[in-house]
Amino acid sequence: MIQVLDKTFEPYISRDEIQTQIDRLAEELTQDFAGKNPLFVAVLNGSFMFASDLFKAIKFNAEICFIKLASYKGTKSSGQVVSAIGLDISLKDRHVIVIEDIVDTGRTLTHFLPELENQQPASLKMCVLLHKPDAMVFPVQLDYIGFTIPNRFVVGYGLDYDGYGRNIPDIYQLAE
Ligand code: 5GP
Repeated sequence: MIQVLDKTFEPYISRDEIQTQIDRLAEELTQDFAGKNPLFVAVLNGSFMFASDLFKAIKFNAEICFIKLASYKGTKSSGQVVSAIGLDISLKDRHVIVIEDIVDTGRTLTHFLPELENQQPASLKMCVLLHKPDAMVFPVQLDYIGFTIPNRFVVGYGLDYDGYGRNIPDIYQLAE
């Protein structure tokens, strides 16, 4: 068990299990994008560790850029979403793969994907480490999924609870 601020979390997904799924995702991406010079668009802050490990596992030519959206407060989705900042590469005619840490209600992606589609990429795919299907309110197509998890709050491996816990190398879930 670990403590982050006022909450207690229990071990959930180990770093080894994460790496195994990252290697599997990298293989799938290699089959689909090797030779196509895709552009990965990682959504900060939560995806920074996942994006880093996934990108290291990619052995073909690819670019990556980082953008920032709304932050997440507390243990429930705040609903406030701002548009992307920091997108300084044109997506036109590029194969774009968005890297997200977790998709919960789907609200964030629903608001932000049209902004990317407007730039007319050759293709636009979603790669997420964690997906909570039971929490989904705004259906979004997720093309590459690391883990499908139940609707419980998680921290670690880049994911925070009110700003803390991102540096934990494994994923923990809120203790019941
Ligand atoms: P959505 O818009 O899909 O409801 O939420 C997406 C965002 O909410 C994620 O990018 C993440 O920042 C935050 N989020 C959703 N569920 C969790 C969770 O279990 N743990 C943490 N740390 N953040 C979450």
